[in-house]
Amino acid sequence: MPFKSTYLKLTTSYVLIIMAISLSFSIVIHRISSAEIDRGLGRQINIYRGMPINPALSISFEQLEAARLKQAEESKKRLTINLIYFNLLILILSSVASYFLAKWTLKPIKESMEGQNRFTADASHELRTPLTAIRSEIEVGLRDKKLTIADSRKLLTSNLEEISKLETLSKALLKLANGEEGLIKFKEVSLEEVIIEAYEKVAKLAEAKKIEFDNQLADIQISGDKSSLVELFVILLDNAIKYSPTKSNIECRILNVDDKVCVKIIDHGIGIKASDLPHIFDRFYRADLSRSKEKADGYGLGLSIAKRIVEMHKASILINSTPGKGSEFVVKF
Ligand code: ADP
Repeated sequence: MPFKSTYLKLTTSYVLIIMAISLSFSIVIHRISSAEIDRGLGRQINIYRGMPINPALSISFEQLEAARLKQAEESKKRLTINLIYFNLLILILSSVASYFLAKWTLKPIKESMEGQNRFTADASHELRTPLTAIRSEIEVGLRDKKLTIADSRKLLTSNLEEISKLETLSKALLKLANGEEGLIKFKEVSLEEVIIEAYEKVAKLAEAKKIEFDNQLADIQISGDKSSLVELFVILLDNAIKYSPTKSNIECRILNVDDKVCVKIIDHGIGIKASDLPHIFDRFYRADLSRSKEKADGYGLGLSIAKRIVEMHKASILINSTPGKGSEFVVKF
């Protein structure tokens, strides 16, 4: 529990700061009040001195002065005690408040660290799967005394497939991990060109599944980073193809809605269950496709990258999806 000690350290720092302020104020209040008591006393004695002597009064000025001095001392002592009580109260209240304040301050840091740890654990797990496959294939191959050239070729081809999976995964991980946003300069880009470029990159996959595209594009310019935007739409189009049945069609539209530029990608594929919708942008999240005929490769990183690109462009992404009917991804700029 490394956070417990951090809470305590932060609480102690807060309490020390509050107590330093409270004590400084108390010292100043003590000084000012003591001076005020002395000054008030001096004034009183001068008033008595100016009064005509009353023989009926049995106490002398000296006795009066001594009584006043004693009273002043007592007042100062009471002031000190009150200030000590006040500071003790501040100490108790500030300790409780500081603990909650420390918890509240550290909450986002704790969440981000937990997210980072989860990410590292998930990434290691995903990296291990193809590595284990490569290792076991090589081990089995090496143990086989009658391994032919054809078998070796098959083994190497399979290894190559796993290696390309590793490459895809490491590229995706790198994209998610590095903060390249700072280096990007936004320019005017044509959304139409972006969509066409993205479409060209996935055209072969669509062809393989005999998927038709119905594109209704418009020449609209937005401020953004072209290569990131192409990547965003490659992810969305690639998913639309992956999660659609063969011979279906995908619609791609650029439109203006309420002063906002929207890009809609509509597929007629397997759709997404309402219970999966809140999670599909989480890293490594993949909806359970066991009951679907579609077997799709992937690591569940595409939409997290897409979300990051959308956020980079201060845009938003919305999904309407009906299981068994299809999904509509809308990016609003
Ligand atoms: P991947 O596709 O690699 O699994 P993504 O992050 O791109 O990862 O998507 C996360 C999950 O969201 C997918 O596993 C899938 O379950 C769901 N999903 C994304 N796009 C679609 C879509 N167009 N149709 C149906 N499900 C989708």
